[in-house]
Amino acid sequence: MITVLRLGHRPARDKRITTHVGLVARCFGASRMVLTTRDDDLAARVLAVGERFGGDFSVEYEKNWKKLMTTFDGVVVHLTMYGEKLGEVVGRIPREKDMLIVVGAEKVPGFVYEHSTYNVSVGNQPHSEVAALALFLDRYTEGAWEKNEMGGRMKIIPSARGKRVETTG
Ligand code: SAM
Repeated sequence: MITVLRLGHRPARDKRITTHVGLVARCFGASRMVLTTRDDDLAARVLAVGERFGGDFSVEYEKNWKKLMTTFDGVVVHLTMYGEKLGEVVGRIPREKDMLIVVGAEKVPGFVYEHSTYNVSVGNQPHSEVAALALFLDRYTEGAWEKNEMGGRMKIIPSARGKRVETTG
């Protein structure tokens, strides 16, 4: 099971990007996103996608994120441009354990660097938590997410042109 910990979400500024973190997490193989700041509106947006397109992704809150990190029973991966290169570290990360993936918003405290099992960079340039998460999950799951069937009442039929959607229920 993969959990994404979204640190430092500011409801007034980060709503759209944190929504995208949640949608990317859901699509590429994570089961839940944990926010350190309550934002019911954001959670509702992410859950509404799951309600239509399936899966059982959840959004939770944990103010005490340090405790979550230090008591997590599994591997903690912090995505940061300062970390070890993705291509060099991804093969060393155990597959059989649960995973907590930490992504930041603004400056990430030193505590996170110290208490993560792996600090992983997706390129050593600053970019985006959304891109870093998508690329990391793709590489870590070796593309397995592409075969996921979410079982929702709306199902998109891949088409060369146009939009085909099957709706049930
Ligand atoms: N300036 C902040 C700092 O020094 O920690 C980072 C801000 S960045 C917009 C927000 C988040 O995107 C980071 O906390 C990290 O999780 C992710 N991120 C950005 N670039 C990254 C990279 N090259 N590799 C991995 N993660 C990255």
